[in-house]
Amino acid sequence: MLKTIIAASSNAHKIEEIQAIMSKFGMKVISRDDAGVPKFEIKEDGETFEENSLKKAEEIMKVTGEITVADDSGLMVDYLDGAPGVYSARFAGEECDDIKNNEKLLKLLDGICQEERAAKFVSVITLIFPDGETLVARGECPGHIIEVPVGENGFGYDPLFVPEGYDKTFAQLSAGEKNLISHRAKALCKLEKLLNERANV
Ligand code: IMP
Repeated sequence: MLKTIIAASSNAHKIEEIQAIMSKFGMKVISRDDAGVPKFEIKEDGETFEENSLKKAEEIMKVTGEITVADDSGLMVDYLDGAPGVYSARFAGEECDDIKNNEKLLKLLDGICQEERAAKFVSVITLIFPDGETLVARGECPGHIIEVPVGENGFGYDPLFVPEGYDKTFAQLSAGEKNLISHRAKALCKLEKLLNERANV
């Protein structure tokens, strides 16, 4: 039987990616909106992906009382000392969008050679149970930032990010290809291990 869990996110792309992977483990993911959670903003004021991920999971679980999954993720660029990091979604300001964020990133890396454009995507996934038990899994995907956006798929910084071992951006890969190597896929894989260990205790 499929187990329904609530996603703390309303980012359709993220939920699709989480669902594609969780379905392998017999879990059906529904968005907070589809679960009838009233709209309210969760302030992502943590200094780490772990803090923000836990906060999102806790706040939504408090409303639904159901098992909840939350992802906090972002891009860390070596040359920028790990920025945009936890500020990835609002890198170019509170009213920004993916295009503005990408433009700001390219500007900051203007003239920087490829060796210095190393970056990684990070995802921290928290699964929280109604009794407060939490499972936390972190996944990372290394790569580098190119000089102009390429590709139509995905979201966020995908058109600028070429994962290690590839010559295409995340936005040129199919959803299936991205889901094999992405930071979220790796975090979900670890989460699966944690779920299996828990089942065997
Ligand atoms: P969050 O919703 O607070 O976790 O913010 C995540 C932000 O990081 C997104 O808005 C994107 O800008 C960026 N991000 C996270 N994962 C990805 C990805 O898989 N591709 C592209 N951008 C991503």
